Amino acid sequence: MSSKIKPLALNLAIIIAALSVFAGLTVMTDPFNVFRYIGKSNPSAPLDEDGVRIPILMYHHFADDDSPGTIISAANFEKQLKILSDEGYTAISFQELCNFVYDGAGLPERPFIITIDDGYLSVYETAFPLLRKYDMKATVFIIGVSHGKHLYKDTQYPIIPRFGDAEALEMTRSGLISIQSHSYDMHQHEPYETGPYRKGVLQRDGESDDEYIEAFKTDFGLAAAQIEAMTGARPFVYSYPYGFRNDKTDALLRDMGVKVTLTIAAGFNAVSAGWPESLLRMNRFNVPGDMTPEELLWMISG
Ligand SMILES: [Zn+2]
Repeated sequence: MSSKIKPLALNLAIIIAALSVFAGLTVMTDPFNVFRYIGKSNPSAPLDEDGVRIPILMYHHFADDDSPGTIISAANFEKQLKILSDEGYTAISFQELCNFVYDGAGLPERPFIITIDDGYLSVYETAFPLLRKYDMKATVFIIGVSHGKHLYKDTQYPIIPRFGDAEALEMTRSGLISIQSHSYDMHQHEPYETGPYRKGVLQRDGESDDEYIEAFKTDFGLAAAQIEAMTGARPFVYSYPYGFRNDKTDALLRDMGVKVTLTIAAGFNAVSAGWPESLLRMNRFNVPGDMTPEELLWMISG
């Protein structure tokens, strides 16, 4: 045996021992292996006495399906709402969060936020009755061009059907649902696009800054007008399609009255009274269809 082998074997033994300790710690701190859902966590800033830590949950479609990434069954969604309700969590609106940040208004115990992207009809048919049953608020982000449609931008391509004006109005009038913006037409699906494709809200190659800014402002203007005409309230929360954003978009949205922007990065949010910046680029926890109620509770109790 050469003299080089022994140190190598010793080093390997040390590495294996260290990995075992780490694995043990991971099991201890993450009994449900929830980190498999979260991926790279984005830790919150430290909280001062004026701050709260807000978890924001992200859902999409409600249906029975074997591919659980962004689709959840009614049965599991109900169990999740029930456990959170039983444990004293209160689903608040972004308006309540803004009132806290801008005016120092109080928040309930254990506040959290439910967000639902893309405006599927299943929100109205499946999620809304359950949200009503458990008295939970939620914010729904619609894509302007898809609103009320079952075809992609009136092409021949079928999409999961979206709710329309009547459903939006009924949900809004319940006081539980807020309709907000997921862009008008900046949530494009490349294979279905006939014109020039844009990746989320990002600037196209060869597009000048002026052209891009104009396109972005026009898009949000259309989205805002549509939502205001439908619900009577201008949107003030923006969910970035696919989570993409750049160094211009937050400022442009704020100039147009948006107070809250959301990404899809996993993590809690440190939100402070008197600190409007803490409402920008907020993190969200995706809730996949196979996440058990116990796993969800453990995740948001952090
Ligand atoms: Zn989306």
